[in-house]
Amino acid sequence: MEFRDFSLLVQHTKVRGFVDGLERGELLASKCTRCGGVQFPPRSDCPDCLSEGFDWVSVNGSGRLLTYTSINVPPRHFAPDLSGRAPFSSYAYHPAPVGIVEMKSGLRVMGWICGVPAQDICVGMTLVPRPEILDDGRATIVLTHEER
Ligand SMILES: [Zn+2]
Repeated sequence: MEFRDFSLLVQHTKVRGFVDGLERGELLASKCTRCGGVQFPPRSDCPDCLSEGFDWVSVNGSGRLLTYTSINVPPRHFAPDLSGRAPFSSYAYHPAPVGIVEMKSGLRVMGWICGVPAQDICVGMTLVPRPEILDDGRATIVLTHEER
């Protein structure tokens, strides 16, 4: 998978392996080989010690919903009426709930909240982040109740 299948804005990156993980159904963080700091989204250059060396580590399990919002007027590239060329074209949510979960490790993961009725979404609830490959072949991250 190409990185542009995850991000519309970044096409060349040293963390391309991230999208390979998404394709396998795995969320990956970067772990600095010098200081051991773990970053999500992954960073090729450690923000703590500036080292360029990193390994991939999986982001597993569930997290606690820190915050969320609902997008009532999605930006043009999220809009469901663009004939399948947009990364989130499969998500015809109105409104579209988006949240950030904090994992037990402290990493924070943002994703679309799926399978939870809007009135049941609440800060503190447990959600599981996981990659999802959309019908148009692009990748995104969803937050759901269930482990795979
Ligand atoms: Zn480091």
